[in-house]
Amino acid sequence: MKYIFVSGGVLSGLGKGITASSIGLLLKRSGLKVTAIKVDPYLNCDAGTMNPYEHGEVFVLHDGGEVDLDLGNYERFLDENLSSDHNITTGKVYLSVISRERKGDYLGKTVQIIPHIVNEVMDIIKKVSKESGAQVCLVELGGTVGDIESMPFLEAARQLQMEEGMENVMFVHTTLVPIMGVVGEQKTKPTQHSVKELRSIGIQPDLIVGRCSEPLDRSTKQKISLFCNVPTDAVFSAHDVDTVYAVPRLLHDQGITDYVRDRLGVQKDPTDLVEWDAFMKRIQSPTDDLKIALVGKYTGLKDSYISHYKAFEHSSAEVGAHVDVVWIDAPEKGDTWDADLEQMKEQLSECDGILVPGGFGIRGTEGKIEAIRFARENDIPFLGICLGLQLAIVEYARNVMGLEDAYSTEFESDAKHPVVDLLPEQLRVTQKGATMRLGAQKAIISKDTLAYDLYKKEEIWERHRHRFEINPEYIDKISEQGFVFSGISEDGIKMEIGELPGNRYHIGSQFHPEFLSHPAKPAPLFYGLVKAALEYNKARR
Ligand code: GLN
Repeated sequence: MKYIFVSGGVLSGLGKGITASSIGLLLKRSGLKVTAIKVDPYLNCDAGTMNPYEHGEVFVLHDGGEVDLDLGNYERFLDENLSSDHNITTGKVYLSVISRERKGDYLGKTVQIIPHIVNEVMDIIKKVSKESGAQVCLVELGGTVGDIESMPFLEAARQLQMEEGMENVMFVHTTLVPIMGVVGEQKTKPTQHSVKELRSIGIQPDLIVGRCSEPLDRSTKQKISLFCNVPTDAVFSAHDVDTVYAVPRLLHDQGITDYVRDRLGVQKDPTDLVEWDAFMKRIQSPTDDLKIALVGKYTGLKDSYISHYKAFEHSSAEVGAHVDVVWIDAPEKGDTWDADLEQMKEQLSECDGILVPGGFGIRGTEGKIEAIRFARENDIPFLGICLGLQLAIVEYARNVMGLEDAYSTEFESDAKHPVVDLLPEQLRVTQKGATMRLGAQKAIISKDTLAYDLYKKEEIWERHRHRFEINPEYIDKISEQGFVFSGISEDGIKMEIGELPGNRYHIGSQFHPEFLSHPAKPAPLFYGLVKAALEYNKARR
C-alpha cells in the first residue's frame, strides 16, 4: 500500500480536496487502484448533526454514512462508492478509544493522545485502505497545519511514514501564493512559514502545490524550492481556472503524475485522459444559457447545495448548455409576504426551470410551496428533492384536491390533513445522530412513466436522508386525483418518485439524486430537468 497525505497551509479553502481528488483521478486513469480518506479534526462523530448552512452540505454515502462534502469530490472524481469509514473525525476516534477504555481493553494503562489516539488513527487508515483493495490511498488532512485539532492526525501521518517506510508514504502540501502590490509580485513567505510549521512536527513535504491567481513564475518555484527543501520540479502551480474539472489536466501537464509515481515507485502506464478531456470540453463550450431557480434557505454559503450544483454541471455538459443557478431565498409568511411573493414570482418567471431541494425545519416552507404552485400552474419544469417532493404533495393536496389544511406533521404535529407524516420506524427514535432513513435503498419504477423514460430500468438504488414520507393513508386519494407515484419502495409502502402527467416536467423524489451524479454520468432526474428546461427555453424564444 502506498499512502499520499495531503495537508494544507496558510488558510482553508485552498482546494485541498480538489488537489487530492485530481491526483487520485490521474493515478486511477493510469491504471492504479486508488482510494481516498478524509480526516476531519472536529469532535462530531459525523457531519450528520452539523448545520449545512455553516459547514456546507452533508454528503450521504451508499452505506448511509453522513459525511463531509469532500467525500463527494472523491466519489465524483474517482467514480467509486466510498463507505463511511473513509471519513475519520476526531469524535469517531475518541469514541472508539474511550469505549475500549471502558471495556477494559487498556487495563492498567494510562490512556493518552500518544500513543493511543494516534495509534487508533493509524489503525483506521491502514484498515480502511487495505479493505478497499486499493494500491494507493490518498489521505486528505482537514484543517490547516498549525491548528491544535490537527496535531494528532499529523503525528499519525509522520509515524505511519516511519512504520511503512519512506518509499511508501509521501506528503503533498497545498499552500497559498498571494500576489501583492502594483508590480504583482508572487509572495512565497506564507508558503515558507507553513512548510516550516510542518517540518517542526517532523514532516518534510515531497511536493508543494501553490494556489495562485496566476501561474507560478519560474522564479517563484525556485524560491519555494530553496526555502522549503523540495526540488523545483516538485513545485506545482494550481492557478485559477474556469472549472475544477480543468485541475487534473493542469497538474498533469506540469508532470505531477510522473513525479508522484516516481516518488512512490509504482508502474508508469500511460495516463488516459481522453474521456475526461472530452467532458471538460463539453463543460467549457456550452451553446445555450439556461437559468434554473434553486428555491431554498439561502444564507450565502453555496457549499450547502454543492452536490446540486455539481449535478447541474454534469447534466448541462450533456445537453450542451450552461446552467446559471439562480439562488432564491424562499419567502416567509409575515408583514412583507405579499411583496416577497410577487418578487419571487417575477424571478421565477425569468427562469427555465425550478428546483426545490431537501431541507429541515419550517422556515421558508410556505415560500417553497408557492414556488411549486407557480411551477405547476405555469408548466415550468420542476424538480422537488426530498422535502421538495413532500411539499409538492402538500401543494397538490391544498390547491388541486381542495384539502386546504394539508401539511406535513414535521411542521404541524396535528395537521388536519397530514399528507406527509413521520415514517413509522422513526417513532422509536430518540437520538438525532445517524438515525434517519439513510443511504441507498431500492425503488421499483413503473413502466410508461416519466421516471421510466429517465432511468430506463425498473430497479434503481438511490441515496436517502429523511424521517418523513408521503402518508400511506393519502396515497390512493392523491393518485385518484392525477398525481402518479412512479417509483415505490420494494415493500410497496414508501413513495419514492411522484410525477404529474400533463405538465412538461413536474416530478419529485424522496431520495437525493444529486449524490450519485458523476461527470459524464448525470443523475437522470437532473438530466431530465435540464433537458426540459432547454426545450422550454427554446419554446419561449
Ligand atoms: N425534513 C424532511 C424529512 O425529514 C426532508 C428531509 C430532506 O429533505 N432531506 O423527511
